[in-house]
Order: sequence, then structure tokens, then C-alpha cells
Amino acid sequence: MNDTLLTYCLCAAVLAIPMKLYLRSLKKREALARAAAEKGKVYSEGPKAQHPHIDVEFCIGCQLCTTVCPEGDVLAMLGGKAVIVNGYKCIGHGLCADACPVGAISMVRATPSMGADMPYMTDEYETSIPNLFIIGELGGLALIKNAVNQGRESIDTIGKRLSTMGTARSIPNVYDVLIVGAGPAGISASLRAIENKLHYLTLEQDEIGGTVAKYPRQKLVMTSPVEFPMYGKFKKTELSKENLLAFWHQVLQRVDFKVRTGEKVEEIRKGPDGVFDVGTSKGRYRAHAVILALGRTGTPRKLGVKGEELPKVMYRLIEADHYVNKNILVVGGGDSAIEAAMGLGHQHGNTVTLSYRKEAFSRIKERNAKRMEECMRTGKVTVAFNSAPVEFKPDSVVLDVNGSPQEIPNDFVWIFAGGTPPNDFLKKVGVQFGMRDMTAEASSEAKRAVQSASPLVRA
Ligand SMILES: Cc1cc2nc3c(=O)[nH]c(=O)nc-3n(C[C@H](O)[C@H](O)[C@H](O)COP(=O)(O)OP(=O)(O)OC[C@H]3O[C@@H](n4cnc5c(N)ncnc54)[C@H](O)[C@@H]3O)c2cc1C
Repeated sequence: MNDTLLTYCLCAAVLAIPMKLYLRSLKKREALARAAAEKGKVYSEGPKAQHPHIDVEFCIGCQLCTTVCPEGDVLAMLGGKAVIVNGYKCIGHGLCADACPVGAISMVRATPSMGADMPYMTDEYETSIPNLFIIGELGGLALIKNAVNQGRESIDTIGKRLSTMGTARSIPNVYDVLIVGAGPAGISASLRAIENKLHYLTLEQDEIGGTVAKYPRQKLVMTSPVEFPMYGKFKKTELSKENLLAFWHQVLQRVDFKVRTGEKVEEIRKGPDGVFDVGTSKGRYRAHAVILALGRTGTPRKLGVKGEELPKVMYRLIEADHYVNKNILVVGGGDSAIEAAMGLGHQHGNTVTLSYRKEAFSRIKERNAKRMEECMRTGKVTVAFNSAPVEFKPDSVVLDVNGSPQEIPNDFVWIFAGGTPPNDFLKKVGVQFGMRDMTAEASSEAKRAVQSASPLVRA
């Protein structure tokens, strides 16, 4: 009897140590999660566009989702369940949803109040105008991977609809589909259209590659493995902008890519016969369906500051290494501004000042925050928080720093104040704005995923 008691006591002691360690680490993690949640509240009112939706009923608290996010602490564990603590940091990688073993996470777009400035779209990316689709960043989901997936899926939807049209499809001079924009979304849609043997045309106001072509030189592009039409699985997850563009050009050269570059779409009307009439800067086209893959970069937002029209004031940086021994001001507090300031700060002899109107960076990628800290410490970039430019002069700029004017020598200015998305164009076309809350759909999707999972997972 005494032996049994002793054995029990020993077992309890052996189990108590790891249990205590586990509880201590759980407490620590929860404290960190609470701190992150508080920080998240300070910096934003929550997710702005895409974000994970967690079905707590199904979450098994395995923590996989919290460890895979490249943006850091978007998710954390609280009370044994995954919760969103810094939703504003989510840029739609969706790795948390992929990692969840029970399908309790789905990526959703913003709720109606958050998405009031977003076009209304169905799950098939169709707008309020039947057969007019919006894909890629214009629809609210950032990232190349999402743009490529949506390009593929939208063409599949159109292909299915066209196949039920019979002879009504073969009207002379009417395309099956017009694709507007040749960024990642438009390229993917075009390649899928070739794969599915659709009669299509792609119209691009600028050059092939979209926003990617405008990234700074040698920018490292992070992406996830993605199924690329006419190619197959694209497995690279990190490559330079130049290599990604070269890959696209290689694939596009192999196929008969029908694109007209330097042609801006200015008008879209739908006739009584249901056929779209599309007016561009160079001509007119007719099509059964139209895909808008315009991105959201639009026109760079201007500050309206005196002297902004000077040629030294720019809104896009491609070749940072063209600028050496210069006094440079970068304006903005997002990733683009920070990456530009760091890129310029690493060129020989540059003095770089970054002016940001807030008191701290808040909406930037974790890795940029770390690199920026290092640049500030080593003097590669001087950051003027709580500041804003008040005048650009030929050889200097005047900043308002904490309410006091400061004039500093200056050769070049880059402003990264975001862009005006093509909302006016969409409204002119007749696309409705405001999005329905997809949370309910997301949660039923999660349940479906769990129900179709193996009995082992369900148990
Ligand atoms: C600085 C920066 C860094 C980024 N880094 C990454 C990264 O590392 N990894 C990642 O996955 N994502 C990254 N992104 C996001 C990614 O670039 C975008 O999500 C992606 O390019 C969106 O693709 P898209 O095809 O929807 O739009 P876009 O790439 O913006 O392409 C839209 C195209 O439509 C054309 N267009 C617009 N209006 C018209 C019109 N009226 N007529 C004809 N053509 C028109 C435009 O000229 C453009 O070529 C980054 C974005 C930025 C700004």
C-alpha cells in the first residue's frame, strides 16, 4: 500500500514539473498576446481589407496558425483559441488558413462598414453588373499569389458560362472576354484564357507586369507556391523583381499572348443584348465578359504642398543606386516609404531623412521594422516623426517638426502617400460599392472543410 502511494507521489511529481513549465509558458504567451492585442487596438480599429476569420467552435488551439504568419503577430492564442490581435497587419498571405489542420480559418474580405470604399463582389469575383468581374488587388486582396489564383478562377467561371451559351456566343467581332490590366492578376487570367481556348484580348495602359514592374530595382519578391496557368506549380517563394518579370515574359513568349499595351480602358457600357462595349484611348471592343484587373495603385496621391510641382519631387523609386551623394527626403510611413528610404540610405554619400506625420511606425512589415531600426541606429536614415513637409524649394525643403519649421538641404524628394484607387472609374461604369459581410459564408466554408475531413480529424 505504501509502495503504491509512493509510486503515485513519484508519478505526480514527475508530471508536475513539465505541467508547471507548460502552464508558465502558456501564461507568458497569453501575456504577450494580450500586449499585442493592446498594441493592435492603439494602431488600428481592426482589419481593413482581407483577414483570417477564425471559427472558434472548430479551433483546436494547436497554434500552427500563429507561427506561420510572415507578418508577425496578426494572430495569437488567448484562452486556448486563436484570435486576431493585429488584423491591420494582415496582407492576405493566407498561410494560417492553409496551416490549420481542421479548416477553422478562412480568409475573408472586410465587413460592410470597413469595405464601404470597396466594390461589391460575389464569391466568384463578379460585380453588381453580371459578367463584369474584378480580380486582384482592386478587389481588396493584396499579394501576387491571390492575384494569380483569382485570375485563374475568374476565367474558369466565365468559361463555364460561355459553354452554356450555344450559338449566341459566336457573334462576329465579339470577344469571349476582355481582360483589363496586365499585372499578376491580368497575366494569370490571360494565360488561363489561352489554356481554356477562349477568344480573349488583354488591354494594358502601361507595360506588362503591373505593380511588380514598378518595384524598386532588385526588390526581393516574396510569394507562396502558386498554380500558374500554362506553366504549372510555381514553387519559388523568394526571387528578385527582375527574375519574376523575366519568368512571366518567358511564359508569355511561349504562348500567343494577345495584349495591347499603352492602351487605357476609359469606358465600359453594357448593351441591351448583354454584350459589353469597351472604349479605350485607341479604339472600341465588344465582349461577352470583362475582367477588371486594374490593381489599386491608381494615381499617386499628392500632398498639395507648395513646390510639389518641382521636377525633383517624385512618387515612385525604381533605381535607388542612381542617386549618390545627395540630400534626400522621403515622405511617408508605410512599407514603400521605408523600403525606399533604406534603399537610398545604403547608397554612397546620401543623407536621407524620412518624414512621417505620426509618432511611430505602425502598419509596416515586421522585417522592415527591424531593418529600419538598424538604419536609424547606424545613421543611414534619420527619421523625423510628427513631421510634415510644408514647402519644397529648389535646394531645400521646409518641414514642420512638432509644430516648428525646420529647413534642410535637399536635392530629391520621394512622396509615398498611397494612391487614389480607380473608384471613380468603377462608379462611372456603374459598379456598386459596399461589401456584404462574408463571415457567415466563411464559417460555413470552415464547417464544410471539417465535415469533409477524415474521421480522424473530425474526432
Ligand atoms: C512596394 C510594394 C511591394 C510589394 N511586395 C510584394 C511582395 O513581395 N509579394 C507579394 O506577393 N506582393 C507584393 N506587393 C503587392 C503586389 O504587388 C500586388 O498585390 C499585385 O501586384 C496586385 O496585382 P494586380 O494584377 O491585381 O494589380 P497590379 O499589379 O497593380 O496591376 C494592375 C495593372 O492594371 C493596369 N491598369 C490600371 N488601370 C487600367 C486601365 N484603365 N486600362 C488599362 N490598364 C489599366 C495598370 O497599368 C497595371 O499594369 C507589393 C506591393 C508594393 C506596392
